[in-house]
Amino acid sequence: MSTLAINGGNPVRERPFSQWPVYADDDREALVRVLESGKWGTLGPRAEEFQERFAAFVGAKHGLSVFNGSVSLETALRAASIGPGDEVIVPPYTFVATASSVVFTGADPVFADIDPNHFNCIDPAAVEAAITSRTRAVIPVHMAGCPAEMEPILALAEKHGLFVLEDAAQAHGAEYRGRKVGSIGDVASFSFQETKNMAAGEGGMLTMKAADIWEKCWAVHNTGRVTGGAWYQHELPGSNFRMTEWQAAILLGQLDRLPGQMEIRERNAQLLYSRLEGMEGIVLFPLRDDLKYAWHLFMFKLNLDITGKVDKRRFAEALTAEGVPTEGGYVNLARQKMFSSRELQRRISRPFDYSSVDLPRTDQACAGTLWFSQNMLLGDESDIDDIAEGVRKVVENIDELA
Ligand SMILES: *Cc1c(COP(=O)(O)O)cnc(C)c1O
Repeated sequence: MSTLAINGGNPVRERPFSQWPVYADDDREALVRVLESGKWGTLGPRAEEFQERFAAFVGAKHGLSVFNGSVSLETALRAASIGPGDEVIVPPYTFVATASSVVFTGADPVFADIDPNHFNCIDPAAVEAAITSRTRAVIPVHMAGCPAEMEPILALAEKHGLFVLEDAAQAHGAEYRGRKVGSIGDVASFSFQETKNMAAGEGGMLTMKAADIWEKCWAVHNTGRVTGGAWYQHELPGSNFRMTEWQAAILLGQLDRLPGQMEIRERNAQLLYSRLEGMEGIVLFPLRDDLKYAWHLFMFKLNLDITGKVDKRRFAEALTAEGVPTEGGYVNLARQKMFSSRELQRRISRPFDYSSVDLPRTDQACAGTLWFSQNMLLGDESDIDDIAEGVRKVVENIDELA
């Protein structure tokens, strides 16, 4: 007789978790106002208002609204004149855009291994070991909403003259030692893709301190134009990465809601920690007092007792069948086919076999790390009880899956 839902038993839960994205009548009215204004995009007033408000929120001097969180990374790298012959250090445990943005500039992505005790963020010691005379930039990712270890990375950047691009796509509102992410590196990139903690379907933002890099980012995102120049005056190779007014209208509302949602996610994440702490088979990432987490994902790990018996994707399927949607998460980026493809190999400085790069901690993290999406932390205590009960049930009946 089976007990797990995946084998025909009763699931722990049948109700859906909190809906995402969250919106209200204000958003409906804001979209109608865009419609009736006749100004639907191309450097509109809402995109400008939003970039100012978002930059102020993270404590950065300048913001630039762009179309998504992939082109934002590419814009920043191009604005920093990164290109063929340069190397950019990235983590292998992240969304593909962190590395593909580097490839599109013509520079070589170089993978540095992660710290499994710090939410699988890039390990500053591995960054240091990866620096060569060709290294021009590093892209720390604030993984799952946990700020990357920025102080040693900034020290390395200072010493070696590197451009620091924070990939904050998952970390709206997170803080590293009292500073919001987005105000720490030279430039930071955010995403408003539909699953992110602020969502507009698609959308992106760059934040930064310096006016000269802002001017360059502006040119790259606006077909190489210059501020104050004529419409058909193009001084740099640029693209069209501009945000629409539809996106900005929605995002102004999303920004207003973020602080309240952050409090709810924090409360529920703490509750879930207290429920899962010490549970057999489950490993939690240590939490630190000098960080504020954005909880884009609730990440946790299966220990070797579990992964020795079943693949984590099978575990995720079983937990999902219990009514607790669970994601198996990233594959080590260096092992993705894209990195051995002809299309990629011809863009980098010389043929390179990424598949054999030694990244043991990422390989291990990919074998055991699972996550819950942020909307599952927007409900009440009964949701958290169900998540914990689902995990306990699958762990206790793990032999049914083996
Ligand atoms: C989502 C995400 C991106 C890309 O953002 P899009 O808006 O989906 O293009 C980049 N980096 C990380 C870490 C992400 O999670």
